[in-house]
Amino acid sequence: MIVHSWVVSNVERAVNQDCIFCKIIAGEIPSAKIYDHGGIYAFLDIAPVNKGHALVVPKKHYATLFDVPPDLGRELTTALQVVGRAVMTATGAAGLNVGMNNFEAAGQLVHHAHFHLIPRHAGDGLTLWTQHAYESVEEMQKLTQAIRSAIG
Ligand code: 5GP
Ligand code: ZN
Repeated sequence: MIVHSWVVSNVERAVNQDCIFCKIIAGEIPSAKIYDHGGIYAFLDIAPVNKGHALVVPKKHYATLFDVPPDLGRELTTALQVVGRAVMTATGAAGLNVGMNNFEAAGQLVHHAHFHLIPRHAGDGLTLWTQHAYESVEEMQKLTQAIRSAIG
């Protein structure tokens, strides 16, 4: 019985053997751990956009946002707030960007869903993305309808 529950809990952990973040969470690869509560783990990004740049990740392996169970939302939001506030305090940042890359076209390099928390300082020179205009109001309305239909 004890063996059975050990097997079940290890299967439920859903570790992806090839995933660097699964190895970090399992302690097989060292990380600068800053948060470890319930189903969520956070550590410093090894190549920070700004110093203090942290990654907040579900402990179970989910490839993208679309694989993360909505039930994890409360724990995730709590972790983003707690870690985000602490990163701002510790770095003296005046702002914080929360970002997530999903799929390679969006720049996702590690295929274990994760949120970037990037501390920001006035005048730090970072520009995250450029913006464009729609060609017409009609184009924008058409896309609005298409997205609404996709939501169903
Ligand atoms: P992505 O482009 O997938 O959204 O971001 C992956 C992030 O993981 C990158 O910012 C990268 O610096 C970070 N990263 C990749 N490998 C490691 C690692 O082994 N340790 C840590 N701490 N961060 C890593
Ligand atoms: Zn993983």
